[in-house]
Amino acid sequence: MTRRHFLGAAGAFSLAAQARKPNIIVILADDLGYSDLGAYGGKDASTPHIDSLARNGVRFTNAYVSGPYCSPTRAGLMTGRYQQRFGHEFNAHTSKPFFDAGGTTENLGLPTSETTIAGRMRDAGYATGAIGKWHLGAPPKFHPNKRGFDEYVGFLGGAREYFPAGKGGVGPIEIERNGSPVKWDGYLTDLFGNEAAGFIDRHQKHPFYLYVAFNAVHTPMQAEDERLKKHAHIADTRRRTYVAMLESMDDAVGTILAKVKETGLEQDTLIFFLSDNGGPTNKYAVNGSINRPLRGSKGDTWEGGIRVPMLAQWKGRLSAGTAYHKPVIQLDISATAASLGTGRINREWKLDGVDLIPYLTGKQRNDPHRALYWRFGELMAVRMGDWKVVRTWDNKQPELYNLAKDIGEENNLASSEPARLERMMKEWRAWDNTLVAPAWPRPEITPPAVQK
Ligand code: CA
Repeated sequence: MTRRHFLGAAGAFSLAAQARKPNIIVILADDLGYSDLGAYGGKDASTPHIDSLARNGVRFTNAYVSGPYCSPTRAGLMTGRYQQRFGHEFNAHTSKPFFDAGGTTENLGLPTSETTIAGRMRDAGYATGAIGKWHLGAPPKFHPNKRGFDEYVGFLGGAREYFPAGKGGVGPIEIERNGSPVKWDGYLTDLFGNEAAGFIDRHQKHPFYLYVAFNAVHTPMQAEDERLKKHAHIADTRRRTYVAMLESMDDAVGTILAKVKETGLEQDTLIFFLSDNGGPTNKYAVNGSINRPLRGSKGDTWEGGIRVPMLAQWKGRLSAGTAYHKPVIQLDISATAASLGTGRINREWKLDGVDLIPYLTGKQRNDPHRALYWRFGELMAVRMGDWKVVRTWDNKQPELYNLAKDIGEENNLASSEPARLERMMKEWRAWDNTLVAPAWPRPEITPPAVQK
């Protein structure tokens, strides 16, 4: 055999061994409470399809998002970078005073200086699709089709009603497909689940990256009648509606998972599920979610605002029914996808996330991150190992907690461990110094009431 023949044979073998690049599906819930899924101890809602991701894959017990609100967290997820590095610190819509002072919506969106995971995957030969709530800018330059997604179905704003006739919402609420209006009927969560299944069906022959961003279970609280009737025993009507909405989303996730199975792609598809922030249990956009035993709500840097349910399934690659306890963050999802899709993580991308696969398969046993950081205006937090320093709405001085012993952040150890507190604040300040100023102000919101 000549050398050339040998190399040819080896090349053919390695291509066959690699098979196809894995598909990635990222399913994002909106304002889901930490403790509402069956997999996280929830009792009121039946969530068998989402829970199946835990049974067949990995359940994260210390998973975070990089902000306590919808739009900033999505900016982090889309880029794999802390969104405060490029000014996307607050929701991409602002208050009346902002507009009264001459502010415009022109630059309210994921800055075009940033490249997205969708663009990277598309460059790597993937079909890319986004479905659902966008909330990363309404002007044309921020449209999903301009940010790396071949296909988009959904609405560009931050919230909308769940029935076609609904006029309420935040930002543009028209359901569109690649910029053209869509006529639809039924319940919006079902539409998004069916659209996701359709995307998988169309692209089953080649690698795809699919981002499914349900607006469930964000306000307004609207559920289908038959689902509400099933839960008539829940006296609190808000909670009853929330549970019904969550079960709709679970069924829609079931539609997606069934399509992955039907197309024979379970072993070729990595599926993530997570929430974009904690449940709003304060007075702002309250939806009936439960974060207990976590303290706090959407909108603050207590654990209830930033620690989220997160699951990952990849049959044949990730062990079924396992838990991963080390702190991870949603920025890692994009890094993982980029690594799988392109074969490497380019240093020029300046990602803050890491490829989780070596950690989940046990190849790497250290912590994925030396520290995780938050900044949301004057609110901050930093987590290192079991320890967290937090300053949020209801404490002006940074407080110190050992989350391994005190998941509810009740026992402030700042005065008994001042050296640790100062060391962690120094870490946080060093990170803070690498950030830019917010590109737009924080929308006017009611500061949440003190929550335990
Ligand atoms: Ca949200």
